Formats: sequence, structure tokens, C-alpha cells
Amino acid sequence: MKKLFKCTVCGFIGEGESAPEKCPKCGAPAEKFEELSSEAAAKVYRSDKTNVIHMEVIALADKIIKLSLEGIEDDLDPNCVITFEKAIDEAWTMKQRCKAELAGHMKVGKW
Ligand SMILES: [Zn+2]
Repeated sequence: MKKLFKCTVCGFIGEGESAPEKCPKCGAPAEKFEELSSEAAAKVYRSDKTNVIHMEVIALADKIIKLSLEGIEDDLDPNCVITFEKAIDEAWTMKQRCKAELAGHMKVGKW
């Protein structure tokens, strides 16, 4: 497991033998980075796959919303419109549930 260094300015986490010279996100210098403990680093690595899955579910739910809007616009019959409206509601809930989970992960260092 490589060492992880967290930017104390923006939260970016870099991987390597030492802190990056400059934060790729906010440009802060190396001295603004702190090395994560092995426990904290293990949390970041352990949660990476699950976080990516949540983000993919969010992207798919977003696609359902966009397709459903197209379906509503197509307006074949009233039941289609109702079905697409329900799909939008359900996809929104799915998206927000995953976002809430990710926000929880961020608060406890699983990010
Ligand atoms: Zn930064």
C-alpha cells in the first residue's frame, strides 16, 4: 500500500512516497499536505470500489431521468406519461439515496 497525503486546504488525497510538490486540485504547496495514518489510508482504499459503484448508480439514475423526460415529451398516451413520471421520482430517490451515502462516507474518511 502506497502512502496517502491529504491536502489540508481542499481535501485532495495524493498517492506516493511523499506529498505532491503542489496540490493538483488547489495548487497548495507540499507543506499543506499531511500523511494519512495507515488506518485512514486503509479506509480510503477499502471504500474506493463502493464509492465508484454509488457514482455509477447515480449516473444511471440520471440517465433514467433524461430518458423519461424524452418519453414524456414523446407523449404516446397518458399511461406512458404517468409511467415516465413515476420513473423520474424513483430515479431521483435512488440518486439522492446514493448521494447521501457518499456524503456519509466523506464525513468518516471513506473517500
Ligand atoms: Zn488542495
